[in-house]
Amino acid sequence: MQLLASYLSGSWSAGSGATSTLVNPATEAPLAEVHMGGHDLAAAFDHARTVGVRELGGLTFAARAALLGGLAKAIHGAREELLALAVANGGNTRGDAKFDIDGGAVTLSHYAELGGKLGAAPLLADGEPIQVGRTARMGGQHVWARRRGVAVHINAFNFPSWGLCEKLACALLAGMPVIAKPATATALVAHRLVELFAKLLPPGALQLLVGPAGALLDHLAPGDVVAFTGGSATARTLRAHPAIAAHGVRLNIEADSLNAAILAPDVELSSEAGGLFLADVVRDMTQKTGQKCTAIRRVLVPADRLADVADAMRDRLARLAVGDPAHDGVGMGPLATAQQRDDVRAGIARLAAATDAVHGGIGEIAGAGPIGVAGGKGFFVGPVVRSTASPMTCAPLHEQEIFGPVVTLGAYPGDPAAAAAFVARGEGCLVSSAYSDDRDWVAAFVGAAAPWAGRLYLGSSKMAAQSPGPGTALPSLLHGGPGRAGGGEELGGARGLQLYMQRCALEGDASVLKSLISE
Ligand code: NAP
Repeated sequence: MQLLASYLSGSWSAGSGATSTLVNPATEAPLAEVHMGGHDLAAAFDHARTVGVRELGGLTFAARAALLGGLAKAIHGAREELLALAVANGGNTRGDAKFDIDGGAVTLSHYAELGGKLGAAPLLADGEPIQVGRTARMGGQHVWARRRGVAVHINAFNFPSWGLCEKLACALLAGMPVIAKPATATALVAHRLVELFAKLLPPGALQLLVGPAGALLDHLAPGDVVAFTGGSATARTLRAHPAIAAHGVRLNIEADSLNAAILAPDVELSSEAGGLFLADVVRDMTQKTGQKCTAIRRVLVPADRLADVADAMRDRLARLAVGDPAHDGVGMGPLATAQQRDDVRAGIARLAAATDAVHGGIGEIAGAGPIGVAGGKGFFVGPVVRSTASPMTCAPLHEQEIFGPVVTLGAYPGDPAAAAAFVARGEGCLVSSAYSDDRDWVAAFVGAAAPWAGRLYLGSSKMAAQSPGPGTALPSLLHGGPGRAGGGEELGGARGLQLYMQRCALEGDASVLKSLISE
């Protein structure tokens, strides 16, 4: 069986001690092993701080952008192999796998293009020059400067490619060396990507730790950045980590999110906007088996549409084939791990105690069980739709993220204030969506809901034909959210570099300031 090695201090090392086995979540067949420790992490940080910082600092933004373009090409060159790994190790359908693998390449390409326009100046201007003296001679200018530490990237199990690439693109373009730590259970894709990437990057620019974090964070120092994606319980331990607290290490957290979708009263289900709403809700439930941080979990519709929405969802979900995604015709695979399956089942049980069944009971697989899977194997949960008569007060709906194919429907009177209050009950989300062609309704909703969401997706008849859906995090738009979602910000075009750069206010002779930010 393959033993996954880590790439640290310029070479591949397997580690030592006890091992953990990575499996195919549809068949439970073992795929690879990883040692749980045995790495010289102090040396890895030293390598990044010395070699990585120096090598990346010797390159302009444009040169670092060109490196990102090379990484995107490497993904394209190995695409079929990467898709197969995502299907085997992630329980992804081919479509799910493309979402992750191609999403990584698209994000790298976006930052390659963006960085190509930043040229050779070492500092980026933040806003316009400011007159701070009696005359224009005495000026002020905010700038962004490259941080001289290490960027530690800790990723969740659900997007081993996109998660690695979206963080890497921003850090490398900003000029910070990276130590990446993918989630252990699905590390095969990230491991292969780093095998491809390492030879295309300067020494020290990218290191990989497979297996548990162990003492990784103990080595943090001032100037470092930690970008974390994962569950809120892990996020809490990071917030309290002594090295992060002691050194004021910048910590970005992307955590749980109870994303909402709201149908406005002006939208008929038979309209383009109504069709978009149904397609988005069903896609978000089933794509990646609902294991998307941006997936819709809570749905609010006008009371007179509730029965029709429930019927339409039953109809669509009844046609969904669940099974081993390596088999033709399977539309939804298993959850990624046994732990995930157990967590999702426990979450459904809590939700079921407070809601009514619409479709899928508590996640049993209909018929003869998952397609192409023998003898009760695999971490399967079927799609589940529940409904609640009291959507604003149903505690399990707003207080727990069930990270699987589960959605709950509720009814409301149709006013935008109630719709926004429903979004806010999630206590901060990555994205929420509203479907309306009524501009007054939309304006009232956005004004009240925006403080509770990192992104608001406004579905309508006019954009329906070209919409990527709310579940797609685009490199040009902010990804992150307040409150429960962690309070972090990633991507958003050039904003994505700011996590890895220090804002500094300069004041002095205005002509000197100008010279510092010109190429
Ligand atoms: P997780 O259990 O919190 O793990 C996330 C990562 O943290 C993994 O790489 C894990 O490593 C690592 N980790 C665990 N304990 C650690 C510690 N003490 N110190 C440092 N690293 C540690 O989350 P998950 O189960 O992989 O992912 C599911 C969660 O991620 C969901 O709640 C979902 O909402 C969230 N998520 C959020 C976003 C977003 O963008 N907001 C995106 C995707 C997922 P090991 O695998 O080795 O344990």
